[in-house]
Amino acid sequence: MNRHLATPVGRPPAFSYREVRHGLLRRSAGFVLGCDEIPLTRLAERFGTPLYVYSASTIRERMRAFQRAFRKAPHTVCYSVKANSNLTILRLLAGMGCGFDVVSGGELERVLRVDRRAARRVVFSGVGKTREEMQAALRAGILLFNVESESELWVLAECAARLHKTARIALRVNPDVPANTHPYISTGLQKHKFGVPIGEARALYAKASGTRHLKVAGVSVHIGSQITEMEPFAATMERVAALVRELRHDGHEIEYIDAGGGLGIAYEGGGTEVSSIKAGGDARLSITDFADYAFQYAQALLGPLRGLKVRLLLEPGRAIVGPAGALLTTVSYRKNNNSKKFLVVDAAMNDLLRPSLYGAFHEIVPVEVPREDRARETVDVVGPICESGDFLARDRELPPVDEGKLIAILDVGAYGMALSSNYNSRPRAAEVLVDGKSAKLIRRRETAGDLMRYEL
Ligand SMILES: *Cc1c(COP(=O)(O)O)cnc(C)c1O
Repeated sequence: MNRHLATPVGRPPAFSYREVRHGLLRRSAGFVLGCDEIPLTRLAERFGTPLYVYSASTIRERMRAFQRAFRKAPHTVCYSVKANSNLTILRLLAGMGCGFDVVSGGELERVLRVDRRAARRVVFSGVGKTREEMQAALRAGILLFNVESESELWVLAECAARLHKTARIALRVNPDVPANTHPYISTGLQKHKFGVPIGEARALYAKASGTRHLKVAGVSVHIGSQITEMEPFAATMERVAALVRELRHDGHEIEYIDAGGGLGIAYEGGGTEVSSIKAGGDARLSITDFADYAFQYAQALLGPLRGLKVRLLLEPGRAIVGPAGALLTTVSYRKNNNSKKFLVVDAAMNDLLRPSLYGAFHEIVPVEVPREDRARETVDVVGPICESGDFLARDRELPPVDEGKLIAILDVGAYGMALSSNYNSRPRAAEVLVDGKSAKLIRRRETAGDLMRYEL
C-alpha cells in the first residue's frame, strides 16, 4: 500500500483521499474522500445530502495555531460568530478559552446558551445595534461595545443609565486603508458604512469620556474579510497605534486594541487535484503552513504595537473554520445544452451563496475516484433553484461524475451554512461534526413543516 495515502501528508486532517481495496487480492478499486477518519460516502448514506461536514480536529488545530502565534502578547481571541454560528462549534471554541465577536442579539444569545460565563469575553460589533440588543449585552456583562457612530454612543449611554450599568466602549475607527479584497467584504474605506473616520475619533472619545455610564476602554478596527496580504493589516495597526498614543496623551485609559478579523484562506490551492493527491503531494496550506501564516499575521499586527502595553483582541472567523468544512452534494442529473455541460446537483445557492453573491471560487472534487485516470470535462455545477445565478461553479474542469455520485465543495466552513436560506422553500441542509472516528449530527435537516411553522 502506498504510504502517502495512509496518512495524509502535509495536509490538515480534514478531507483527504484514502485508497479503497476490493476482492480477495485486495486490488485497489480507487480512492474515496474522507473527513478525518470517516469516508464521506458513509456520511451521505447516514445523513443524506446536501450535507455540511466539519472536521473538529481541524477547527481545534487552526485555533490553537492562531492562539500560539500571538502567545508573546497579552491577547484574547474572540471568534467571529457570524462565520459559523452552530452551537456545537461555539461550544468547542468556548472550551478552548475563546471569546466571541457578535454582531446581533441573536449571536449573543447563542454564546450565552453555550456558556454564560463567556459573556466576559464577548465584544459586540455592528453599525445598527438596537436598544434591545444593547440592553441584553449590558445585562450579560460583555467585555466591550465596538461603537460605530456618535448617535450609537448616546443610545448606549441611555441604555446603560437605565440599567445602572457602565458600558465599556471602543470606537470602531475607519482607517481608510484599502484591503484588496472583494468590494462587498471590504470595510475599511471612507466610502463604507463602517466605523467613524479615524480623524474624527479623538473628538468623539473626548465626548464619550465625559459621559456617565460609558467607560472608554479601547480602539477597534476591522478592514474587511478574505485579506491574504499582510501590509493592509500592518498599515492599519500603525494608524491605530498613533491614535492610541494621542488618546493616552488626552488622558484616556486605553486597555484594548481590537484588531478585528479578516485573515484570508487559500481557496484556490489547486492541491486537491486528484492527480496530486494520488501522488501524495498537496499544495494547499497544511496545518504547519497555517501556523507560519498566522505567525506572519501576528508579526504584522504586533510590530506597530511594540511598547504600547495593551491587550490585543482578535476576531478571526474564516481563517479558523473555513477550511474545516465541506458541502457534500449528489449529482442529480447530467445535462448538455448544445456544447455546454451541466452537473445539476442537490445543493443550491440557498445552501451555499458565496459563488452567486461574490463570484467566489470553491474547489470541487469527486468523492470517489477510480484507480484509472479519466479524461476531464468542463462543466457548470448548478443547483435546482429557478435563477440563472444559481451556480456553485462555472466552467470547471472535473473528472466525469456520474448521476447519483457525490461531489464535495471544499472550504465552506465559513459563510456557508451561515449565509444559507430557505429560498424556493428548500429546507436547510443538515450539519455533521466529525471528530476522528466519530460523526455527530449537530443540526438536523429541516423539514417542509419547519418551513411553514411561523406562518399564520
Ligand atoms: C465579519 C467580521 C469579522 C470576521 O471576519 P473574517 O474575515 O471571517 O475573519 C470580524 N470582525 C468583524 C467586526 C466582522 O464584521
